[in-house]
Amino acid sequence: MDCCPKPHYSWVWRNIIKQNHPILREGTWWVGDGYNILLQHKDWYHCLSLNLHDQRLPTGTVGDLIDHNSVSWNHNLVRSLYPPPVASQILQTPISRTKSVSDKLVWRHSYDGEYKVRIAYELLNSEHLAPPQQVLRNQEVWYRIWKVKTPLKINTFVWRLLHDSIPTFSNLKQRGISIDSTCPFCNDHEETSTHLFLLCPFSRACWHGSSLGIHSSDFSNISIQHWLSTVITIHNYKDPGSMNYLQSLFITLWTIWNHRNQVVHEGISPNPMQVILTVQTLSCRYGNAFSDQQNSNWFSSRPKPPTQSAAGPWQLIIKVAGFRNKKKNRRAYVYKAINTQGDFMFFGVNSSLARTAPGVLLEAVVEACLIAKNHGLHHVLFLSDCRGLVKVFNSGRASDGQDNVRLADINFLVLNGFLCKMILVPHVLCKSLCNIARQATIMPLKLCWFNPAFL
Ligand SMILES: [Zn+2]
Repeated sequence: MDCCPKPHYSWVWRNIIKQNHPILREGTWWVGDGYNILLQHKDWYHCLSLNLHDQRLPTGTVGDLIDHNSVSWNHNLVRSLYPPPVASQILQTPISRTKSVSDKLVWRHSYDGEYKVRIAYELLNSEHLAPPQQVLRNQEVWYRIWKVKTPLKINTFVWRLLHDSIPTFSNLKQRGISIDSTCPFCNDHEETSTHLFLLCPFSRACWHGSSLGIHSSDFSNISIQHWLSTVITIHNYKDPGSMNYLQSLFITLWTIWNHRNQVVHEGISPNPMQVILTVQTLSCRYGNAFSDQQNSNWFSSRPKPPTQSAAGPWQLIIKVAGFRNKKKNRRAYVYKAINTQGDFMFFGVNSSLARTAPGVLLEAVVEACLIAKNHGLHHVLFLSDCRGLVKVFNSGRASDGQDNVRLADINFLVLNGFLCKMILVPHVLCKSLCNIARQATIMPLKLCWFNPAFL
C-alpha cells in the first residue's frame, strides 16, 4: 500500500508509517468494475510472466479479467495468466454486483477498510500473527493438507480455513454484507475464524475435551491460520501417530464448523459434548476406512447378509442409476424406491462430486439407506445396471479412498441391523432413471420426493 507520511496525517499514523512494518502496509482491493486497478499495481497480485501486450488485456487493468455481463471473474483467463495458488485467490475475491462498490484500495486489517490505531497497535504487538499471505508462502503446508487421510470435503474445508475464506460472519461483513458479526456460540466477540476455532469458550471446551487435549486458552496473539500451518508442518504425516493426530485435528475443525452452522441455521443450542462425540465417531470411521484401504481386512470382515433370493423378506426395492456429463465434468445419481406391492415409496436425485462411477452410485445407496432406515424399513434390495458398483458393493472394497468412506457408511448401517443386497439388472430397467440423472448433470440439483400415503 502506498503509505508515505504526509504532513496532514495524524501523529500516530505518521509514526506507524515510519516503522515501515510490512504488515501495516498491506492493502487490499475492493473490486467494482476493475478498470481503476492496474494489473501491475503493487497491491494487486504479482505475476512475473504476465504479458501486458496480451490481446486479451486491452486496458491492462483488472477490468480485463472480469466478464462484465455475468459480473464474475473470467475463470479461464485468470487461470491461464496466473499460477494456480494466485489464480484461486483472485477467483475468491468478490466483485461488486450492484456497482455500489467502486474500485478502492483499502487497509487490509479492518472490516471497513479504514485504518484503525487499535488494530495497528495489536498487529505490532503480535509477533506471531501471520496473515494468510505469509502462510501461503509455506508451500509445504499446502502439499501436506492433501496427505491427511480424511474425506476430500474435510481437506478442502481446512484448505479454505487456511486461506481464511470460510464464510464466518466477520468475513461476510468484510465482503460488504450487512450482518451482525457476533459469535453465535458466546454472543460476546466478533466471529472471526481465529475466535471461532481457537479462542471462543465453546471451541476451547471442544479442544480440551477432545482426545487431542489441546489447551487453546494458552494461545494468545496467534491466528488460527498460523497455528494450524505450524501444527501441520511439525507433524510428519508419514508417521501413523502424527497422521492420527492430524486426522482428529481436521475432523474437530470441521465438526466445530458444522455445529456452528446448525446453531446459526437450525437454532440448536451449542453443545460441546455433541462436537466431542461426533469427532470420536468420525475419527473412528474415517481412520478405519483409510487405514484399511490397502489391506481391506476390515471391509472383507463385514458381516455378509444371509444369502437371500431376490424374493426374500425385502421391504423396499430401490433402483439406483447415475450419469456422468464429461463436458461439464459433473456426475449425478437417481434412486427410486418401491415396496414389494409395486407402490412408489420415494425418489431422489442429486448432483455428486464423487470421482468414480461406483462412487456416485454408492452415494445414492447411502442416501437411500438412510431414508429407508429413518422410516423404520430395514430390509432393502438394490438394483443397478453398473457392474462396477455391484462388484465394489459385494466385495466391500474400492480403489478410491472416498468410495471406501461411503462403503464404511453402508457397513456401519449393516452392523446396526440394516440388511441390504445388491443385484445386477439389465440396463433397460434403469434407462429412464439414467435419463433423469443426465438432466441433473446440467446444473446442480438436489431433490427428494416421498409418497405421503406410505411414509
Ligand atoms: Zn465465541
